[in-house]
Amino acid sequence: MRRFSYQRAQGPAEAVLMATAGAADSHSKAEFLAGGTTLLDLMKLDVMRPDTVIDINPLAAAGYGRIELNQHGLRLGALVRMADAADHPGIKSTYPVVAQSLAQAASQQLRNMASLGGNVLQRTRCTYFRDVSYRECNKRNPGSGCAAMSGFNRIHAVLGGSDRCIATYPGDFAQALIALGAAVEIASGSGNRTIPFANLHRKPADTPDKETNLLSGEMIAAFLIPAANWTRRSLYLKVRDRESYEFALASAAVALDQQNGIVRAARIALGGLATVPWRAMEAESFLRGKPVNEDNAKAAASAAFADAQGHGHNDFKIELGKRTLSRALQQAAALKI
Ligand code: FAD
Ligand code: SF4
Repeated sequence: MRRFSYQRAQGPAEAVLMATAGAADSHSKAEFLAGGTTLLDLMKLDVMRPDTVIDINPLAAAGYGRIELNQHGLRLGALVRMADAADHPGIKSTYPVVAQSLAQAASQQLRNMASLGGNVLQRTRCTYFRDVSYRECNKRNPGSGCAAMSGFNRIHAVLGGSDRCIATYPGDFAQALIALGAAVEIASGSGNRTIPFANLHRKPADTPDKETNLLSGEMIAAFLIPAANWTRRSLYLKVRDRESYEFALASAAVALDQQNGIVRAARIALGGLATVPWRAMEAESFLRGKPVNEDNAKAAASAAFADAQGHGHNDFKIELGKRTLSRALQQAAALKI
């Protein structure tokens, strides 16, 4: 591991100030440290090379570790541990897709340690990105090429890729946030700003190294999920190589507002299949005003993958993704609530 300076922030303003100072010129880089389960791994692998690491864990006491649930919605501080949100009785009953997406992620030990803010900012599991002996990786080494295009790309994305990068966004929780129309509160030197969570991540396009729309020194403060008619009838279905402690090959976060068996609104996000947490708007539109029977669920899933593109080893993910979404929709429609 390379040398870095470690600092511990006692409050949000101090954290942002430290981060801004730590990234004062184009050669220096500062990273926040929450649970450290992504950051420290990637520093040991020499993929991430921050000059300054700012420990933000003391901010948990300043509201960043708080879960607030009321009739207006759910507010989750960025330092809430994954396990605490996954096990929260109110979240399990009112926002099941949130609890399920977290409960099915990583392992119990990791969930005890890892924060929600760190979770949404975790980096891709693309082997070529995580192994610095490969020079060709536009995300890690801009302009160098993409080893995955002609290499082994079984876990890579079939949606949202570009000719520069097809790395999959690996997290689970983000899909629940997308499906439920969440917003993210961001702390910066000039105060807090709130943006739709859907605008946080960037598709790779020509600049796969730029993964989010966070500005230098900005920090995630909280996630805001509005109360809505679809939150209770929601679930997260994750398909992976083994049933535990594994990233998604395909996943679907589904929330339905359904009356007398007819969909008034469907909210759908896909994971493990795309370069960013992926909202399936075509499938949502298709289902509006219809019952979720097998035929409609399959047709909605086909609509979601109309623009999907395989790259060889990952071709199977298109069919797997359709089946995952179709099954998730039928399970959500059948929930007794
Ligand atoms: P850190 O490692 O502390 O931070 C991660 C990144 O986010 C860093 O760049 C850091 O600077 C930045 N950051 C952290 N907090 C903030 C903030 N508030 N504002 C701005 N930037 C911030 N995840 C899944 O979703 N599903 C899985 O199945 C899964 N399986 C896993 C299996 C293994 C073996 C491992 C090691 C991880 C797995 N993960 C999985 C990923 C894991 O969930 C993440 O590593 C974890 O959630 C990251 O949270 P953290 O608090 O440890 O983040
Ligand atoms: Fe790098 Fe993206 Fe290509 Fe993976 S898919 S090698 S992360 S450029």
